[in-house]
Amino acid sequence: MHKSSPKVQTRESPWTILKLLRWTTSYFESQKIEGSRASAEILLARALNLNRIDLYLRHDQPLSLQELARFKLLIKRRAKREPVAYIVGQKEFWSMDFTVTADVLIPRPETECLVEQALLHMPRENSGPPWKILELGTGSGAIVLALASQIGWNRYFASDLSPNALKVAKSNAKSHHLSDRICFFSGNWFDPLKKNLHQFDLIISNPPYVQTRIVETLAPEISSYEPRIALDGGKDGLNSLRIIIDQAQDSLKSGGFLILEIGYDQRIEVENIALNKGGYKPARFVKDYGGFDRVVVLQKQC
Ligand code: GLN
Repeated sequence: MHKSSPKVQTRESPWTILKLLRWTTSYFESQKIEGSRASAEILLARALNLNRIDLYLRHDQPLSLQELARFKLLIKRRAKREPVAYIVGQKEFWSMDFTVTADVLIPRPETECLVEQALLHMPRENSGPPWKILELGTGSGAIVLALASQIGWNRYFASDLSPNALKVAKSNAKSHHLSDRICFFSGNWFDPLKKNLHQFDLIISNPPYVQTRIVETLAPEISSYEPRIALDGGKDGLNSLRIIIDQAQDSLKSGGFLILEIGYDQRIEVENIALNKGGYKPARFVKDYGGFDRVVVLQKQC
């Protein structure tokens, strides 16, 4: 805290860190905000430029007027249901910190399943030639950067339709010192790729897969703040999955893998889309830690 900053003193007692945390948590609870304690802690730590753990080490520290004013602004934003990740501009995924803005989807814990599946299929040792790996709709870059941080010798490519999202992904690549491993480019799904010219060993994506009518019914944190383009999968939610499953074959090596995140109730439809397309081995589905079918692994026939 700044030495000369005035402390808030009332006749009762000053607003200490702990008192303010308690007050904010119950205020958020009254506003039906999920994760009220965690929200309060993360926002207060941000307002005070502290780590979350420091809040407890300094629980009886009083706040200055400036600090209170800074915190109040953050509380107001959260009360309007802005996600904590957008307010602080950061989200942890795969134990890495990612910058997030309203131009990108906030990485979800269940998406770590997608990363795990990709890692399971990638060769562990630098024995053969490096794999060529493509992520479609990279957003913040969380998926491709998690992969590149684990297995460095592959060649990574990542695209997004949104130039603003690509800026975020590139800045995340830079802060994780992974820029030289990834080639970012813009465009809609496979459009920028010349047919049969670029052949990948693995293509990965977390495309929009929520039905249009459902998007509106999601929590306001999602429906009012996250990019619609990253969520809305059209009338049946399957528009983007259909395009990707259909077109991926032209860009996959034979025996190459297509690994996609899907909605918890889309297994049968996705299985049928792949079957109707043909040219893939039988689809394999993987559940997330909530027990929902979350990832489909398709392999192009040899
Ligand atoms: N899992 C996200 C949600 O329901 C959806 C992400 C997506 O459409 N790819 O909030």
